Amino acid sequence: MFDDLLALLYPESCYACQGALARGEKFICTDCSVKLPYTDFHVHGATERNPLQRRFWGKVPVRFAFAYLYFRPKGRVQRLLHQLKYRGAQELGEHLGKLYGSLLSDHHYATEFDLILPVPLHKLKLRKRGYNQSDAFAKGLADAMHLPWSNKILIRNVNTSTQTQKTRIDRWQNVEQVFQVNQPSEVKGKRILLVDDVMTTGATLEACAIALLAEGATEISVTTIASA
Ligand SMILES: [Zn+2]
Repeated sequence: MFDDLLALLYPESCYACQGALARGEKFICTDCSVKLPYTDFHVHGATERNPLQRRFWGKVPVRFAFAYLYFRPKGRVQRLLHQLKYRGAQELGEHLGKLYGSLLSDHHYATEFDLILPVPLHKLKLRKRGYNQSDAFAKGLADAMHLPWSNKILIRNVNTSTQTQKTRIDRWQNVEQVFQVNQPSEVKGKRILLVDDVMTTGATLEACAIALLAEGATEISVTTIASA
């Protein structure tokens, strides 16, 4: 009864529109669930009709390139990502991962990967923030697809928090030396699904892919919560 009273006084709000959630709704209201800008890139698989796939052409071999949602400034997805980053919504990240993982499973993608790895944060940034939102999304994906995941195998050596000051070319050179595979035996011969929160240029995922392929991973696919 106390919970009901509390919910009446302080109704939980939708993470995408801030409107009050109705009974039975969790994290995202029904209206937003319907209206979120889903990419449906998985329908196109690894073909040229998948625009995200094309972003990696001539850079690094990527088997599948997916994103759950389109990022649009000031829209629902930006609000969702804001909640993920600044309100410590670990649960929301997992929830989104589970939703997308179920969708990918339904389209028979669960058998395409052996291991899920999130793009890591530097340990100082992780300590400051308390968690990595890509971890949460990766964990949700892994749960829904019944696949192993780890946030210990791929690590970030350099804290790149100042990289917003730099030019794009500098940033790429910087990012290339940033990632390291901590346990090479864990990636050798594996088809890996790399997970990040937002894809802009794809340079971060590209750098991670290069590091993993250098240690003997057989195939890299990538997915993000949103794609700019
Ligand atoms: Zn909503």
